[in-house]
Amino acid sequence: MMSENNNLENFSKISDLRAPFDLNSLVRDNIKKLTPYSSARHEFTGKASVLLDANENPYGSTLAEPFNRYPDPLQWQLKMSIASIKGVPAEHIFIGNGSDEVIDLAYRIFCDPEKDNVIICPPTYGMYEVSGNINNVGIKKVNLLPEFQLDVEGILSAVDENTKLLFLCSPNNPTGNNLNRNDIEFLLNNFPGIVVIDEAYINYSNQKSFIQELTEYPNLIVMQTLSKAWGLAALRLGLCYTSLDIIALFNKVKPPYNINEASQGLALEALQHTDQVNTWIKELVNEKVSLTNQLLNFPFVEKVFQSDANFILVKVKDANNLYNYLAQNEVVVRNRSKDVLCDNCLRITIGTPEENTQLLILLQQYEQ
Ligand SMILES: *Cc1c(COP(=O)(O)O)cnc(C)c1O
Repeated sequence: MMSENNNLENFSKISDLRAPFDLNSLVRDNIKKLTPYSSARHEFTGKASVLLDANENPYGSTLAEPFNRYPDPLQWQLKMSIASIKGVPAEHIFIGNGSDEVIDLAYRIFCDPEKDNVIICPPTYGMYEVSGNINNVGIKKVNLLPEFQLDVEGILSAVDENTKLLFLCSPNNPTGNNLNRNDIEFLLNNFPGIVVIDEAYINYSNQKSFIQELTEYPNLIVMQTLSKAWGLAALRLGLCYTSLDIIALFNKVKPPYNINEASQGLALEALQHTDQVNTWIKELVNEKVSLTNQLLNFPFVEKVFQSDANFILVKVKDANNLYNYLAQNEVVVRNRSKDVLCDNCLRITIGTPEENTQLLILLQQYEQ
């Protein structure tokens, strides 16, 4: 498990032993040429006591807390707090309105519609493909191998001159496993575009995050989120960690005030309580082990895949039937049986002990 307390001093020194990486050749021309929007709060730096620059309401708002002023467009306070927890300098952090915004911005920075393409490795998180379709960018699918590991050769042979991004998800959703670190490192060294590693579930994994490798790989973007272990899904805060050059591109393209003041303030407060989050992580991992063991006792459960996340992928005799039975009893799981390599599989999020017990009681009463 990755506890939420790291040390900024671990952030390694830049190594320049690698073959030159040409970021510019990967960026869309219109983005290179773009003059970004410059907001009032962005242009002025210094001490201000009278703010007559942004056409705000000077009286306040009708809420108890003042929300009449535009928020910090670059969220520095929040980034500094994340920096001290994660051990990555604040300037290397970008915050999106959920990871979904980070994914969309990566497409808009690097991929020319109708020309460029990206590689994804199904079964995996659905937004990589949806976001690509919204941006009218080609999607090349190189399925995971039967053990849910990367087909490294397949990925590299799918690359063409218009391949810009590779999306990897580790631990992977919906399968739950870590991708082999050696495979990821090989791809970081050999994939000619940007490698995006989505670490939404890294807190539940015993694999090390790639955020400490940023200075090694100029083509690396690591995504994390406050939606899972931190319990802040409703605030919509997705993070990415990458080189200063790529951060500058994200800042150039993002909507000026993409993170609202309420989210910034509440997240700052939540981030004070790392101990609570680390306790939740440990409890969930323990619950996962015990739920897995109990599931294996049911005759209709064929396999529980090894998981490094806060969910398990479970292969059953008839996934649609079991899904419907649970739904009729007000327990909602995710039916993944239409995904490649996921025949008759349900994805079950680990709940509280009480919720998991409710699930198990229902399963005891389940007649196929
Ligand atoms: C849940 C999840 C996210 C989080 O998305 P947000 O937009 O930050 O809530 C990102 N990636 C994967 C693989 C996920 O499963």
